[in-house]
Amino acid sequence: MKKRIAIFGSTGSIGTQALDVIESNPDKFEVEILTAHHNDELLIQQALKFKPNAVVIVDEKKYAGVKNALASTDVKVFAGESSLEDVAAFDTYDLMLAAIVGFAGLRPTIKAIENGKPVALANKETLVVAGDVVMGMAVEKRVPVIPVDSEHSAIFQCLVGESRNPIERIILTASGGPFLGRKPNYLVNVKREHALQHPNWSMGTKITIDSATLMNKGLEMIEAKWLFNLEPEQVQVVVHPQSIIHSMVQFQDGSIKAQMGLPDMKLPIQYAMAFPQRIPNSFPRFDFNKASQLTFEAPDTKTFRNLALATDALYKGGNLPCIMNAANELAVWAFLRNRIGFLDMTNVIEKTMERVSFIEKPTLEEYLDSDGEARNYAASLMQL
Ligand code: NAD
Ligand code: MG
Repeated sequence: MKKRIAIFGSTGSIGTQALDVIESNPDKFEVEILTAHHNDELLIQQALKFKPNAVVIVDEKKYAGVKNALASTDVKVFAGESSLEDVAAFDTYDLMLAAIVGFAGLRPTIKAIENGKPVALANKETLVVAGDVVMGMAVEKRVPVIPVDSEHSAIFQCLVGESRNPIERIILTASGGPFLGRKPNYLVNVKREHALQHPNWSMGTKITIDSATLMNKGLEMIEAKWLFNLEPEQVQVVVHPQSIIHSMVQFQDGSIKAQMGLPDMKLPIQYAMAFPQRIPNSFPRFDFNKASQLTFEAPDTKTFRNLALATDALYKGGNLPCIMNAANELAVWAFLRNRIGFLDMTNVIEKTMERVSFIEKPTLEEYLDSDGEARNYAASLMQL
C-alpha cells in the first residue's frame, strides 16, 4: 500500500524537496493533496505531474487560471484560506506534510490532527504559537507528530529504542548563520540580500532571515520543548558551523547520542514520510576522511538578542512565544521589504513582548487573539 501524502505548502523549499523524495519512491508514496499560496504556475506543473486528488490555491484571484489549466484532469481545485482546512478534513490521505511557513500553517494542522491524521511537521511556528494545544490534541487523538526540522528529526532519531530512558537534556546545534562572529556595529548595516545568503542550507526566505538573526534557533528551542515534552532547563544550544551533527540527546547516564550527515533537508523529510522505515537513497554521504574538523562554540546571545528573547519566552511560557512569533513574522516581512534594518527586528519583537498582555494558560482562541494583538502592535511600531 502506498502512503498517500498531503503536502501543505507544496511550492516551497520543503514542499518541492518532498515531491523530489516522492518522485524517487513511486512504489512507496503518492500525492493526494497539494496546496500553494500564490504560485499558481508551479502548483499547476506539480498537479499535472503528480495527479493529486485535490489542490488548493489560497490566492482566490488565481482560481480560474488553475481550474482552467487542470480542466482536462480529475484534479479537484479549491481556492481561499478556509479551503486549507476543508481539504485537511478529507479522509483520503495518510499523512499531512505541514510545510506552510508561519502562523498560516496552524489551523490546517489542527484540522488534520482533529481528523486523526499523522503529521510530518516542518512548520515549527505551529508549536511556537500553540504547542500545548496542538500536542495536547495529538495525544488525545493518538496522532503521531513526526518532526521534519533537521534538529528535531535528529533528536527523534536518537530517541528510537530509548522509550524507557528519560532525557537529561537535548543539545540543539546551530550553524550560526551568515553573520557568525559579527558584532552589532556590523549587523546594523546588513541588507536583505546579504542576510539571505545562508552558508549551509538553501531554504525559504523567512526561515533564512530567522537563521541569520538566530531567531530560528529560538523557535526551535520552543518547538523541541513541545515535541519532546521537556522543561526549559533541558534545552541547550551550541553553535556548530559545519552543520554535520544535526542535534544530540544526553541521557541520564551522561551518554550523548548524535545524529549526523551532510546538511540536506531531503533526509529528514524522507525519514518523516517513511517512518518507522529507513529507505535507501543516493543522497551524497558524509566522509570522515575528508572532513577537516567539527567545531563547537557557545552562541553569542548579546549580539544575537533574538535568541535571548526566545529563551525568555521559552521559560515564561503562556502566550509569550505566540506574541514573539507574531512580532517576528511581521518584522521579518518588513526587513525583507527594506522597511526596517536588521537590528530593528529585535527591537520590534522585544517591545511587542513587553506590551501585549501576558496570559499564563491561554485557550486556542486566546492564542489567536494574542497573535492578532501582537501583529497590530508590531505593525504600529514599524508604521506599516
Ligand atoms: P517557503 O517560503 O519556501 O514555502 C512556504 C510554502 O507555504 C509555500 O508553498 C507557500 O505557498 C506556502 N504559504 C506561504 N504563506 C502561506 C499562507 N499565508 N497561506 C497558505 N500557504 C502559504 O518556506 P520553507 O522554507 O519551505 O519552510 C516551510 C516551513 O518549514 C517553515 O515553517 C520553516 O520554518 C520550516 N522549515 C524549513 C526548512 C527548510 O530547509 N526550508 C527547514 C526546517 C524547517
Ligand atoms: Mg532547523
